[in-house]
This record gives sequence, C-alpha cells and structure tokens, in this order.
Amino acid sequence: MAKRVAFVGLGNMGGGMAANLVKGGFEVNAFDLSETATAQAKENGCNVVSSAIAAVAEVDFVVTMLPNGSIVESVYIGDGKTPGLLDAIPNTALILDCSTIAPTNARAVGAVASEKSLRFVDAPVSGGVAAAAAGTLAFMVGGAEDDFEEAKLVLTAMGSNIFRAGDVGAGQAAKICNNMLLAVHMAGTAEALQLGVDNGLDPAVLSEIMLKSSGCNWSLEKYNPMPGVMEGVPSSNNYEGGFLVNLMLKDLGLAMEASLNSQSSVPMGAAARNLFNLHKHSSGEDKGDKDFSSIQQFYSKT
Ligand code: NAD
Repeated sequence: MAKRVAFVGLGNMGGGMAANLVKGGFEVNAFDLSETATAQAKENGCNVVSSAIAAVAEVDFVVTMLPNGSIVESVYIGDGKTPGLLDAIPNTALILDCSTIAPTNARAVGAVASEKSLRFVDAPVSGGVAAAAAGTLAFMVGGAEDDFEEAKLVLTAMGSNIFRAGDVGAGQAAKICNNMLLAVHMAGTAEALQLGVDNGLDPAVLSEIMLKSSGCNWSLEKYNPMPGVMEGVPSSNNYEGGFLVNLMLKDLGLAMEASLNSQSSVPMGAAARNLFNLHKHSSGEDKGDKDFSSIQQFYSKT
C-alpha cells in the first residue's frame, strides 16, 4: 500500500515538492490557506483536505513548508485557540519541517513533539523554486539517526542531496551558515567585478581569470552577478526569478539571531545583512523581489 503523507504549505516551494511526492508514489493529503495553492495541488494529484488537522489523519509522514518560525510553532503547537497538529498526528508518523526557521523554533517544536512521544526532524532545503519543481533540492536534516534514515524515504522523492547535520535544530543551523556564506561571497564577487570594471577590465575576462585563480567561488562559477557575462542566470534577465533579496534578508536575519544566541562574532555576515538591506532600499525602489545577485547594482556607479 502507498505510504501516506500530509503536506501543509503548498506555496512556491511546497507546491512542487508535494507534486514530486505524488510522482514518487506517495498518497498526499494536502492543505494550504490559499485556494490558488490548493487548486494547483489538486491538479498535481494531491488529495486536498479542508484543514491541516484533517490532513494528518492516519498518515505515515507529515511535511510542512511554511513561511516562518512563528507560523511553524503555531501550526504544530497551537495558538491557544486552535489546537496544534502535535495533538492530532499519529504516534507512528514521522514529522519533517522543511521551512527555513530559527534552530530555536525547530528545537521548541521538537521538544513538544518528544513530550507527546512523536518524532520530529528539521529538514530545511537549499535550492529554489526550480529545484523544488525538478525534485533536485538539497536537504539538511536535524534529528535522530533512525529518524533521518526514515526521513530519506520521502526526501529522496523531492531532492538529490540529503545530509544529516546533527540532532534536532542542526539542519536549520547548517542552512543558516551556508546562506550567510553565500551572501558574503556573492557580495564579495560583485565588489571585485565592479572594481575590475572601474579599472578598465572586461568583467568576462576578469571572471575567466578569477575562475582559475584563488578568487574562484560558487557565485562566480555558477551565478555571475554581472549582466552579460553568463547566460541563463538572473543577472542576464534583469535579475528576475532566482533567490529573492527578501529571502536572503530573512536568512541573514536568522543568522544574526543565531549569532546572538551563541555569542559568535559574525562581522562579515553582519556586513552582508546590512549591504543587502541597503541595496533593497536603494534608489527609491524596493528591490526585495529581485534576485539576490542584483547586489551588483549596489556597487554600480551608473
Ligand atoms: P510561500 O509564501 O510561497 O509559501 C508558503 C505557503 O504557506 C503559502 O502558500 C501560504 O498560504 C501557506 N501558509 C501560511 N500559513 C499557513 C497555515 N497556517 N496553514 C497552512 N498553510 C499556510 O513561501 P515559499 O517560497 O514556498 O517558502 C516556504 C519556506 O521555504 C520558507 O520558510 C522559505 O524561507 C523557504 N525557502 C524558500 C526558497 C525559495 O526560493 N522560495 C528557497 C529555500 C527555502
């Protein structure tokens, strides 16, 4: 018999992920507050239900892909008026939260789940909407080793690289570290390219040189932020699509919060958060919905 999954949060990411679970042979009970999202999920073969509580009845797995930590906590733990999913999920089911939230939120949900003899893992993703649709996401999982092995049954239907980072909360911590580094090397790459242009260099030639030199990094290799250097990336499409400035700012905010909790020094991450925030509000236009490589424009003199 097909394994049953409850999927809550069918937005830009969750919609594609739920569709891949259907393609992977799972029976998917789907719920979202948005009717547009549930209509699409129905077209993709999900069994749309009327509430999150209804979705979790008799399932083997619960997957959530929600906007932020306070929503994740209220969906699982309840908000005083509405009961949370942890009061309705069967004890045999494994819970996977794939949203990007603070490690503290993930641990809070994990602790309440454990009090109720439920198993919870955090499994945030790397990769955007296209990877969610293609089933090629990377998952960074925080949870017990046995739960990780079981989680792989569903995660392999939605992604291609699956890592265990440690116990509950560790997946979120790994995601935050990765995205803080991404912001730093993207900003550094944009800064170096503009310095080159200002000193008479062709950015394509400079990119070629740095790719074979010690400045080589992922932003330069796969996601060059200077328009006209690389085909098929947001910089060559007016910075449309891709990974939005607003989402990068969210992740950098989580990195700052984590650094306060652990009393870590993060001068580069803090500078990156400020740079992306200044960029978002620069030139009187909100750039939050542009791809994050548009940080290149922040350095431009024209
Ligand atoms: P989204 O806003 O498109 O989707 C979130 C969905 O959750 C919406 O459809 C919304 O209606 C639904 N929702 C909100 N509250 C709900 C509730 N109480 N019950 C049921 N449904 C509810 O966001 P997204 O881009 O799909 O991102 C989801 C998560 O994935 C976020 O945590 C984000 O940070 C993370 N993420 C996004 C990307 C990306 O490129 N979009 C990449 C990596 C990680």
